[in-house]
Amino acid sequence: MADDTVVGSAATSTTRAMFDYAPAPESRSVVDIASSYGLFIDGEFTDPVDGRSFKTISPASEEVLAEVSEASERDVDLAVRAARNAHTKVWSKMSGRERSKYLFRIARIIQERSRELAVLESLDNGKPIRESRDVDVPLVAAYFFYYAGWADKLQYAGFGPDPRPLGVAGQVIPWNFPLLMLAWKIAPALAAGNTVVLKPAETTPLTSLLFAEICQQADLPPGVVNIVTGAGETGRAVVAHPDVDKVAFTGSTDVGRSIAQTVAGTTKSVTLELGGKAANIVFDDAPVDQAVEGIVNGIFFNQGHVCCAGSRLLVQESVAQDVLDRLKRRMATLRLGDPLDKNTDIGAINSAEQLAKIRSLSDVGEAEGAGRWSPACDLPQHGFWFPPTIFTGVSQAHRIAREEIFGPVLSVITFRTPAEAVEKANNTPFGLSAGVWTDKGSRILWMADRLRAGVVWANTFNKFDPTSPFGGYKESGYGREGGRHGLEAYLAK
Ligand code: NAP
Ligand code: MG
Repeated sequence: MADDTVVGSAATSTTRAMFDYAPAPESRSVVDIASSYGLFIDGEFTDPVDGRSFKTISPASEEVLAEVSEASERDVDLAVRAARNAHTKVWSKMSGRERSKYLFRIARIIQERSRELAVLESLDNGKPIRESRDVDVPLVAAYFFYYAGWADKLQYAGFGPDPRPLGVAGQVIPWNFPLLMLAWKIAPALAAGNTVVLKPAETTPLTSLLFAEICQQADLPPGVVNIVTGAGETGRAVVAHPDVDKVAFTGSTDVGRSIAQTVAGTTKSVTLELGGKAANIVFDDAPVDQAVEGIVNGIFFNQGHVCCAGSRLLVQESVAQDVLDRLKRRMATLRLGDPLDKNTDIGAINSAEQLAKIRSLSDVGEAEGAGRWSPACDLPQHGFWFPPTIFTGVSQAHRIAREEIFGPVLSVITFRTPAEAVEKANNTPFGLSAGVWTDKGSRILWMADRLRAGVVWANTFNKFDPTSPFGGYKESGYGREGGRHGLEAYLAK
């Protein structure tokens, strides 16, 4: 294992003495990163009108990976024009059967280039290669395959005999699942006959740009997909552009609110996928070891940068101590370090800003009186890192129980009865997801009926499938992505 990587209280000398892992880095050479990238408009990479650019870095090392163009309002306008032109002249005229061929082709190229996509995602985002390789990229291909299958069957989707596309979709996505969020946005939009202008997050633009190359490779007609890189201002220009018919946004509740204000009073349709503060609820009859795996997966998957993360553990009081003891033992075996190492469980925090936010909310947790615990953990010297952390003795009023931390930090709360579990789980401004761990099917159904969350997982957590709709209640946003429901957001009513 590389000196500056790994960790865990594998920490403890006993575990280390028993066995150690040799480094198993995935090769970086499978991916060609250009020194600079243009904007992808009308099927070509073009220079931005005013020549501005920014750097994207690897959060694990702070190494600069590439210089990326910053799209101004004028560039966004060119992209929207290209999308409009492609929609009117080509894409909306094409039969669903022809559109589906392009989507199938894109899905197959994603599979063929999956290793390259996974390495690039882990480099730019900081997530472990085990996740980008085994979760993100396979799901990306699956979403394209799934929506490819719908493109010629829209009249059977339950939205009328001849559903029509909305036109041009302006799409803005976050940095936590860069390529997967792109797939959730682009696949249903194209299947339904829309063209798109997509803005990836400032810190993770590279896989979107590789996706642009894949569109070229698939011979997708120019202008059907346009990628405009940039920061918040570019996103604002996409959302506010008068010729955008549909706005699809995934990101924070604050930005979602400002987008809702921008489009209010226009004819644009909007879907917002925002934050969450999910309860992962463990009853005393749950299979404890499985539940512990589910808790770990719920909050430490992708460093906790997951909108539906199980960031509040609600555990029944009678088993709380046992669950906590086992959880701590399991956490001590998590390996933190180089995202490209196949043994790594926990990668880098995506940016210095996100790390500062996680640190400050964790400090608030301590100041408010909760008990903080992390396994012994050597953090690498460079890059942005935060150890897996749990807080016990958390009360409902604590900020760490109410606000989204968006990092590897779990707040533990106890309950006595199912009714109390429901009340505590629903006591949040969000409503994106929840988990229930119990042996009783009837209790799962009883809980699922009462939990105000878009997704309720039973005896599992953070499982995704293209056929299943995903979305929230309350401040978690509105609209659904995935499944048949995901098409509705891209079809005229
Ligand atoms: P964010 O700050 O809201 O950013 C999301 C995207 O919006 C980024 O591309 C961002 O650009 C852009 N943006 C920023 N200001 C904008 C504005 N005024 N108008 C238009 N676009 C703007 O969120 P984040 O911190 O990147 O992402 C984390 C959040 O996303 C969390 O709250 C998480 O829960 C949520 N999320 C939700 C889901 C879901 O499906 N519900 C999935 C994943 C993440 P820059 O990055 O360049 O600033
Ligand atoms: Mg980056």
